[in-house]
Amino acid sequence: MSGDVPSASKTEQTFWAVREALLSCELRPGDRLKCNVLAARYGVSPSAIREALSRLSSEGLVVATPQRGFRAAPISPDSLLDVTEARMEIEVLCLARSLRCGGLQWESRLIAAAHVLRGTGRHLGDKYGWRDAHSKFHEALVAACDNETLLQIRRNLFEQTERYRRMSVLGHGSDGRIKKTDADHQLLLNAALARDVDKAITLMRDHIGATSRTVLQMIEQAKADSDERVLSPSRPLKRSAARRP
Ligand SMILES: [Zn+2]
Repeated sequence: MSGDVPSASKTEQTFWAVREALLSCELRPGDRLKCNVLAARYGVSPSAIREALSRLSSEGLVVATPQRGFRAAPISPDSLLDVTEARMEIEVLCLARSLRCGGLQWESRLIAAAHVLRGTGRHLGDKYGWRDAHSKFHEALVAACDNETLLQIRRNLFEQTERYRRMSVLGHGSDGRIKKTDADHQLLLNAALARDVDKAITLMRDHIGATSRTVLQMIEQAKADSDERVLSPSRPLKRSAARRP
């Protein structure tokens, strides 16, 4: 391999670093992603960035446009509704199967995950800790699902919607919203342990839908603020034709 080709480990590290920046909305939806700028930021070669962005485009986090390069996948009402609907369908399938198949070990893991989430929720300054605990709680709910392919699709959709959850927190990180989220998790736990599939499904649909509704409101608000701005009022896009696909 020539010196221009990034080493496997460096490429991998860059991929995960850029991915995290996208999921956390540090790189905001719709932002242009310039390889040389990101290369300087992460201390790697532009080719490492290009490779990471290409991989991320296959995950739906980045959009590659001929002649315009890469852009953080924008959040549009259509894409939001699309991915939310897909996640709801897959999530409830996994949840129902998990509740039917789960045994004592599954219950123990779920109770432990809920306990950690409750404990971490008190320290919302620790965003990464809460995000990790939240992800593990949702994973524990569906962990006894007996179809690994469904679980893999679910994981992918959960990660894709992480950006929406972040946007939702940015938009409505109020005490009321946090309390509602905590209450949702407790109700989901209760329904899961009671093996009440119908109730758990209804709660899950509502839980996922709440985030979607909040982000939709944000998109509409951003649109009302300015046609040139999308979810980043302090950072207007330079390109005048900032329409989203
Ligand atoms: Zn949740």
